[in-house]
Parts: sequence; structure tokens; C-alpha cells
Amino acid sequence: MKRLFILLLATALACSGPAPKTQDPLPMSSEKKNDPHSFAQTEIAQVVHLDWDALIDFEQKVIDATATWTLSEGSSGEVIFDTYDLDIIDVTDGNGKPRTYTVGEKNALFGSPLIIQLAEGDKKVAISYRTSPDAKALQWTDTEQTADKLGPFLYTQSQAILARTWVPCQDGPGIRFTYDATVQVPPGMLALMSASNPSEVSNDGAYTYSMPQPIPSYLLALSAGHLAFKEVGARTGVYAEPSMVDTCAWEFADMEAMMVAAEELYGPYEWGRYDLIVLPPSFPFGGMENPRLTFATPTILAGDRSLVALVAHELAHSWSGNLVTNSVWDDFWLNEGFTVYFEMRIMEAVYGREYSEMLALLSHTELLNTVEEFMESMPDDTRLKLDLKGRNPDDGVTAIPYDKGYHFLRLMEETIGRERFDAFLKNYFQANRFKVMDTERFVALLKTDLLTEEEYSSIGVDNWIYAPGLPANVPVPNSDRFEKVDGYALAFLNETKLPENEVTETWSTHEWLRFLRRIKGADVNALAQLDAAYSLTQSGNAELAAQWFENTLSEKEAYRAPYDMDLEASVTDFLTRVGRRKFLMPIYSALLEGDKLEWAQSIYEKARPGYHAVSRESLDELLLASD
Ligand SMILES: [Zn+2]
Repeated sequence: MKRLFILLLATALACSGPAPKTQDPLPMSSEKKNDPHSFAQTEIAQVVHLDWDALIDFEQKVIDATATWTLSEGSSGEVIFDTYDLDIIDVTDGNGKPRTYTVGEKNALFGSPLIIQLAEGDKKVAISYRTSPDAKALQWTDTEQTADKLGPFLYTQSQAILARTWVPCQDGPGIRFTYDATVQVPPGMLALMSASNPSEVSNDGAYTYSMPQPIPSYLLALSAGHLAFKEVGARTGVYAEPSMVDTCAWEFADMEAMMVAAEELYGPYEWGRYDLIVLPPSFPFGGMENPRLTFATPTILAGDRSLVALVAHELAHSWSGNLVTNSVWDDFWLNEGFTVYFEMRIMEAVYGREYSEMLALLSHTELLNTVEEFMESMPDDTRLKLDLKGRNPDDGVTAIPYDKGYHFLRLMEETIGRERFDAFLKNYFQANRFKVMDTERFVALLKTDLLTEEEYSSIGVDNWIYAPGLPANVPVPNSDRFEKVDGYALAFLNETKLPENEVTETWSTHEWLRFLRRIKGADVNALAQLDAAYSLTQSGNAELAAQWFENTLSEKEAYRAPYDMDLEASVTDFLTRVGRRKFLMPIYSALLEGDKLEWAQSIYEKARPGYHAVSRESLDELLLASD
């Protein structure tokens, strides 16, 4: 998952008083390290395969389905699944013989255990159920919110613990299974999963899928809508609404080159095809690494291919995360820190070191800001190895696992040399493919397979992983391109000197972002001149628009008094169209910072139904807590 976190959420929580909500930890057996976010007792009975048969009902916004689970050898007694607001209709042994079951008391964060009594010799259980219209993983998008307005759209977001809101499952990252599925959608729609996918619309709206490689439940994914497909390379392609598919294929033309670069670095791609679907703008994240089919936000369509690092990131997850998976969410940095590191290496291989160092420096700034902010309110959350017991694992999705993880791995590379580090990583992915990894085992591997005692202590591995804060030996990326931009920012701040057209013509989105971040707090008249020259208020590039809104709206004075009508219209349009949490949180926070609470709340009221639950939950805390 890419950058869904938001610095300002922590501030909002800190200002409004209450600490993040916690729940009592789930009961767990003492003899085995179970996942603190799952009811499953896998030492008694564990799943190995899913047959999922589903009917997608767009009118009632529910899924009627049967999940038939095959159990591992030796499963007996009872089998426990995670569920969240699922209406369980019946449970059988897979051959029509009923089995007794109970649904336990609901925990607000983790849902309810579904406990099924097994008879001797039971190899399967079949659970018929219906999802709730409020299922947190499911986003039912109205026709109006799609690009082509051909019909409604559905997509899922299962990570971290939302798969249980649409499939009864053993919902922990350490439990893998293969799956087959049949899905019925209204004729005319194309339905896709994190599996082998169709490339053409069927006549009757029925589709079948197969995922022969074992995956954890958080990688279960489904989307359905009026979609078209276009090939990009031999193994790569793009799904999008028909009017957008050519644009998307152009924007992501380098997918195949990225695959080649990734394989050269760390070994073969293990999943067959690699396709990408561009979802409606309400998608709460940048991207989600669903196997074989990355889910992506349309806000990375910059028109100049300058936001494709996100594709490199999601592709990198095909190794770090999807192939070698964090054992529980406390080990999340093993998924995301490795993926950011791998993303940078892919970007360097395809676009050059000068380019990837800009991205590295953005990551560095993000890291410094986050550590500074967290050290005041929640220092323990700056440790790489997290403690999320009794908490929503979403609380762990901050810059720490991503950017601190990246800098730790970069430090290792810089200390021992790229050649040794790459050889270790290549072997690491190969030796642990389709397995789970936890922090302690990784540290043991460092000791046996990579670092001398001297290297281990000069890096300060334990300090990096287990201590709060940021060690003094954090590497600092070096970007000449950003240094130049900083010069222009200074000239703008000191003399209201605008960067010339000939200069900005060569700027990528990253340089513009750097510039805008450096001129925060600039005089409103200077901002107006900049806008007159570069039409930032009207920017079609979501990254730039969002940063521009953040800069201007946080001014206590209106940017041009009274409220600039263009700015107001653009902000309102953006916030009602785009649901990506990374943008929403800073923009709404800027509105609050600029004393525009009423305006913020009136937009939110209109926009809220179109946001995914993941974004709604964060924004409710920010905006409703401000009352
Ligand atoms: Zn990620």
C-alpha cells in the first residue's frame, strides 16, 4: 500500500485530547504466537484453499456469497473465522450436511469470531452469507462518481483487517491460501480479482478466476464496473473506464521496463501477469498491491508520467509483502520499508540516480517531520517494530515503516556495499518465497547471512529496530535537482522573484512539490502572482493542486480577500471528487488551520458519502472532533 498516511492526523488527535481508541486484545492461546488482530486459532484448524461463489447486488449494495474453505491436514475440533457484520445464513461440510456454528460477541475493531464445530473427517466447511451494506472494505460508487457515467462501480480494500467484512476468513497476514472464484455481476460489467483475470466483457456478467499462488487474506480483492483493457507490454496491461484506457496505457507505458528492472535486481516475478486497474477517484489510497492486479488512484495520471513511482512501489510489493509477507502487522516495516527501498532501486534503474534521489529526499523530509511530530505525542510509534496489540493496525500506517524502514536498508547498503547487499536480498526473496517473516527472524538472518559483528554494531541494528526516534547515522540523500529548486524558492520568498518558464518547463511534479513546500507561508500577494503565472489553482495534477491548496488555505487571511471564487470552486470540486486520504487530510487540516471550519464542514457533509470508510474514519476524527 502506498502512502495513505497523513502527518496531520496525529496532530489532530494530540490537539483534541483523546488517544487513539484501543480495544481489549483478543483472547489467544498461550502456546503459539497468534495474530493479535485475528480470532483464528490456526494450531487447531487452518485454511488452505477458498472456493468463493458470489453474486454482486448493486441495488442493495450487498454481496450474497458462499465461501467454501478447504482445511489443512490435521484440522479438527473447531475452526474459527474472522467476520465483521456478516449475516451468516448457513454452514455445511461442503456436501450439504449442516454443521453447528456460533457467532461470538462483536468487538468494535475486530468483529466477531465465527466458530464452526467440525465432525470427524471434515475436510471442508461451506459458509453462506450476505455482506452488510456498510461493509467497510466495500466501496459502492454511484454512477455519477465514475468518469464515463455508464453505471455504478464497486471496489474492495482489504488491508489491513477489512477482508473479514466481505469474506469470512482467517484474517491475518501470516495465513496463506490459494483460491478459485465465480462472480456474477450485471451484464455489461467487467469484474476483476487479485487472480487470473478476463480481458473482455462477458455476455452474461459471469466470470471465473483462479489464484494458484497462496496469498494472505489482505490481498483478496474485487472490483466491478464498466471497464476496458489495453495491453502495455507482453505481461502487462491496464484496465480503466473506456474513455480513460488509452490515456492510462500511455501514462504507464514503462510498466514492462520496470518489470525487467525488478527481475534483474531480485529474481523472477512469480505471479504470471502484472496488470493495473485505475479506479474511480474515491479510492482512498495511492495504490494497493493486490497480486496480479494493482489497484490505483487516477490521481497519479499527471499527463507527463511523473507519478509512476507509485507503479514501481506496487510492483515491488510482488516481492516484498506479497511473496515474503510480514508475519503480523507489528512487522509492517518488513513489507513497506523493503518496498520503498526496492521502489527506489527500480526508479534508479529505469530513470537514473538523479531522478531517484529526488524521491529519496522527499522520503527523508517526510521521515524527519514524522519523527519530530511523533516524539512529542507517541514516541513508541517511531520504532520500526511496532506494538499494535489491541489497536487498529491502521494506526501503524505512518511514515515510520515506509521511510524509516527505507533509510535503515539504505544505511545497510551504504555500509557494506551494494554488491553484497543485493546478493543477500535476492537470496532473501528466493529463500522465503510464499512464506512469512517476522522482525526477530530477519535480525537473525542479518547475523548469520550478512553482517559481521562489527558491521552489525556500527549500523546499530537493534537501535534502529527497537528504539524510538531516529539514529544519528541516518543516511541523507543528495539531490542536485532539489538544490537548484531550493535556490528558486529562496528568491521567491525574499524578492518575490518567480522561477522563469524556461526553468519550470523542465520541472517534474517532484520539483514543483519541493518548490511549493519550501515557499509555505509566503506572502499572499506573492502567491497570487505565482498563481497568475502558473494557474496552480486550476492544476489538473492532483499532487500539485493538493499542495497548492494546502499552502493557500492555511493562511488565516483568505488568499485573496474575500475568498477567491476560483480557489473556492477548485477546492470544492477537488474534495467532492477525490477520496485519496493522503490529499484529504492535509487539505481539510489546512482549512482548519486557516480558520475555515464552517467551510470545511459544509464541503465534508456533501463529500462524505462518496469517500471510502477508510477516509471517512480519519476525517470524522479530524472534523467532528473540532466541533
Ligand atoms: Zn506499500
